[in-house]
Amino acid sequence: METIALIAHDKKKDEMLEFVEHHKELLEKFHLVATRTTGTLIKEHLGLEVETMMSGPLGGDQQIGALVATEQVQYVIFLRDPLTSQPHEPDINALLRLCDVHNIPLATNRQSAHIMLNYVALKDAKKS
Ligand code: PGA
Repeated sequence: METIALIAHDKKKDEMLEFVEHHKELLEKFHLVATRTTGTLIKEHLGLEVETMMSGPLGGDQQIGALVATEQVQYVIFLRDPLTSQPHEPDINALLRLCDVHNIPLATNRQSAHIMLNYVALKDAKKS
């Protein structure tokens, strides 16, 4: 089963919940991993199964980066807040870099994430 990683900065968490709700039927077919707060919100509000890592500022981005580096994650959706400085900026940059090193699709805003999941849905429909 393919894995999708989900991360949202604090000001993007509502947007992430709306996004995941919109794509719930598709996302149910995947193994989901997320940073702690993002994943917990998704579990509590939408009832999806999500494997949670540490919170982003405490190392969660790095944990997801390790999964990207070992190619255990096939897609990354990272709704970043471009208007707020983040204490863990170096960790964020490391994760983005690893996606590029390993050629893992990365969406950093809702519209690119929609496009990504539309592609994933098409691929999934061809399979079945
Ligand atoms: P969180 O981490 O889901 O635990 O809030 C995300 C982040 O801020 O990088």
